[in-house]
Amino acid sequence: APLLSIQGVSKRFSAVTALDDVSLEVGKGEFFALLGPSGCGKTTLMRLVAGLETPDAGRIEIAGVDMSGAPPHRRPVNLMFQSYALFPHLSVFENVAFGLRRQGKDKGVIRARVAELLDMVKLAGVEKRRPDQLSGGQKQRVALARALAPGPRLLLLDEPLGALDRQLREETQFQLKEIQRKLKTSFVVVTHDQDEAMAMADRIAVMRAGRIEQIGAPAEVYERPATRFVASFIGEMNFLSGRIAGEAFVGAFGRLPAPRSELREGAKVVLAVRPERIALSPDGVEGIVEDVAFRGSAIHIRLRLSGGEILRISRSANDGPGVAIGDAACVTIAPEAARLF
Ligand code: ADP
Ligand code: MG
Repeated sequence: APLLSIQGVSKRFSAVTALDDVSLEVGKGEFFALLGPSGCGKTTLMRLVAGLETPDAGRIEIAGVDMSGAPPHRRPVNLMFQSYALFPHLSVFENVAFGLRRQGKDKGVIRARVAELLDMVKLAGVEKRRPDQLSGGQKQRVALARALAPGPRLLLLDEPLGALDRQLREETQFQLKEIQRKLKTSFVVVTHDQDEAMAMADRIAVMRAGRIEQIGAPAEVYERPATRFVASFIGEMNFLSGRIAGEAFVGAFGRLPAPRSELREGAKVVLAVRPERIALSPDGVEGIVEDVAFRGSAIHIRLRLSGGEILRISRSANDGPGVAIGDAACVTIAPEAARLF
């Protein structure tokens, strides 16, 4: 059985539908990411799971137990807030000990557990400091240790890296994964950053406007986006408009064998293809190279097709640029590399 099961959950705030018939499951020991743009309902969903809000419809089960009516402190869940919400007047030690004191644990147990957690988040030595004497990264780790202290079976982390600068974020992504792997606690991380979700999670749910558009492993969501929104939200994508004619996609630039046969003859469609799945090839569709940019491991080419559409192409830097600005270049798209929406 899954550790967390959300079935058909909806939530409205007067005129706003924050969540509309959301279902998902998170496994034991899974690192799950909830990904979507700001305002799509991510925080609301976490607050429902934590018991801080009540759903209008649907059912939430944790470890097979129906959570309806269960107050937050009776759920085997903890929520780490985006703002960290540390107690400013308490020391690092007391912040982390907070949940344990509430559980009525005795002094020796609390001291040992706090020491173990501070060690795990690499904060040993700063027990006595107050939050305003810590860096952003240290505050984040205190919040994590505090959320883990009572030993939740499920930890919800709402934009846990949102306040950190870029370099620290990557380091912290790795630390979060490492800690999660060690503890085998199920994590649900909320983020609006697709790179972060891809880097950390076993599976990702992509949300838009209160609904889930796709759930899958990072590679699955990247390679086989279920909707046009997912295709555009995750990674770089080219979109070319056209229609279906005689089992082929026909666009302003030419014909491609249609990758999906179920498409209706004459239907208007959009073909989506990743920049790295477009090949330079002498017998392809011709365009003019508008830009060639060296980006370390990859070379990015901007190609204007005769119909005026722009294709972004990326090639491995090891392959060399092959083309220069102003060149005519031909490209092909393998049918299996394209998706039609
Ligand atoms: P996210 O975390 O993905 O940015 P939220 O869950 O915070 O999105 O919000 C989803 C939608 O619900 C937004 O339109 C937001 O304005 C609205 N919303 C969230 N909480 C409340 C509330 N307490 N009262 C009214 N509207 C709310
Ligand atoms: Mg939010």
